Amino acid sequence: MLGSMMNVPLNIADVLKYAADVHPTGEIVSVRTEGDIHRTTYKDTLGRVSQLAHALTAQGVRVGDRIATLAWNGYRHFELYYAISGIGAVCHTINPRLSAEQMSYIISHAEDTMLFVDTTFVPIVAALRAQWPAGLKIVVMTDRAHMPGGDDLCYEELLDGQATTFDWPVLDENTASGLCYTSGTTGNPKGTLYSHRSTVLHAFMEAVSLPNVLQPGRRILPVVPLFHVNAWGLPYAAPLTGASLVFPGAALDGENLFRLMDTEQVYSAWGVPTVWLGLQGEIKKQGRLPQGLADVVIGGSAAPASMIRGFEAQGVNVCHAWGMTEMSPIGTTGNLPPHLEGLSLDDKLALKSKQGRRTCLVDLKIVDEDGKRLPHDGVAAGELYVRGPAITAGYYKNDDANAGAFDREGWFGTGDIATIDADGFLAITDRAKDLIKSGGEWISSIDLENVVMAHPGVANCAVIALPHPKWDERPLMIVVPAGESRPEVSELMTLLSEHFAKWQLPDDVVFVGELPLTATGKVSKLTLRTQFAHHVLPDMEQD
Ligand code: AMP
Repeated sequence: MLGSMMNVPLNIADVLKYAADVHPTGEIVSVRTEGDIHRTTYKDTLGRVSQLAHALTAQGVRVGDRIATLAWNGYRHFELYYAISGIGAVCHTINPRLSAEQMSYIISHAEDTMLFVDTTFVPIVAALRAQWPAGLKIVVMTDRAHMPGGDDLCYEELLDGQATTFDWPVLDENTASGLCYTSGTTGNPKGTLYSHRSTVLHAFMEAVSLPNVLQPGRRILPVVPLFHVNAWGLPYAAPLTGASLVFPGAALDGENLFRLMDTEQVYSAWGVPTVWLGLQGEIKKQGRLPQGLADVVIGGSAAPASMIRGFEAQGVNVCHAWGMTEMSPIGTTGNLPPHLEGLSLDDKLALKSKQGRRTCLVDLKIVDEDGKRLPHDGVAAGELYVRGPAITAGYYKNDDANAGAFDREGWFGTGDIATIDADGFLAITDRAKDLIKSGGEWISSIDLENVVMAHPGVANCAVIALPHPKWDERPLMIVVPAGESRPEVSELMTLLSEHFAKWQLPDDVVFVGELPLTATGKVSKLTLRTQFAHHVLPDMEQD
């Protein structure tokens, strides 16, 4: 028997309509490419989004068309999110940090018909447009005064004179709404195609998981880009809950972020660890926190324990979160439940170094090599599989990638190795291919990195596995010193010895000026493995 309730589909436009009605003064503050700070509200934004929806329709955009963006975090990018999806088209955010080859592949694979670009990225467009389909319309996201030369369309001119109300269509909730490509370990990037239903549900899931932050009056700064998994869902969860958004534009270094947070009284800021290293450096330099900062959400890569301690010691709550592009992206969040708030600081920090507990509507399981479920005892480590309504059911037009992505029960394989403890805390111990197997025993490179990162002389660190004739693999530690002089290797080893068995310690430590990063700002272990493929470990020399 079916229930007899209204079958009203979940539509993204309804989130902004709700915000304009109920949280009309909720703000969007943006550092613009024009160089100034722009302020608007959810109420006024709905008017501009309506104008943009008319403009897109006038340009011939139809349901299902893919419309690309190449832009920083700012109000115009936010407007595109809602106008494109609202008329039933697909908002395809492109990561400008990708290589030219990958970007061109993505544009042609997605068959984009329009591309909206910030002025910063006009040179990329100029260099690559000859390789792109001739019919691709390009719109520069600025006003006439700031337009570069050429015949491309001007964003503000498209909006000028359009009506500020729009008769939003009621779309089937499974209609595609957004498209985001993520790097494969090899080969071309793979696309996750979000729907209205998955996106609206994800916004609710996030609001339920982070009620301390997602509430009216809170100011949230997504350092995580709108071109990286929908800035972790904030463009939807913030208006849904009435929280305000502060968009940082292009300047994401510690000094600029500190200044923006300070002047805009940002309550919570979200981003990857690399970003927080910069901010913590600035906090140290200034000898104080940005005014109003009470919370940081760290995800995308493991947050080093030393980073969490640094924030918590200054009274900033750290929420360590884990997720994936394929999961919209949030899978787990790390705020402690009330019954664990009374723990000692050290015990709290140990828990916060884990990646948190599952978001509602995300099921997690860890399995062994035969696909058999492992216990949630905090010890058994296995490959992590996930299931839920905001998780991909298959990469966009990519049968090859889909072939190995799901298990027989239809769960999605994350490629991460994890433990889950009795309280439900997930700990990512490594990427499947990053775990180091030495003599049949596992060594976690992330754990080694976390400990060494606590040394004041270490700015950054990565551990990779090198092939070894006797032990199969041994760890090599690559360290970026924090200052002019290198820390003593013996000091690092002493620090590590406090936490690891002797056989788990790295066989060698090398110092470098910087670590190579992927397009999404994570340390590229793939590049490091290639760079150090011929490195000879001391122990091998002796052999
Ligand atoms: P992406 O789709 O680019 O967001 O990458 C997702 C992957 O990043 C996950 O499968 C993890 O390997 C890694 N990741 C994301 N968040 C974390 C975290 N908090 N700790 C460790 N790894 C993470």
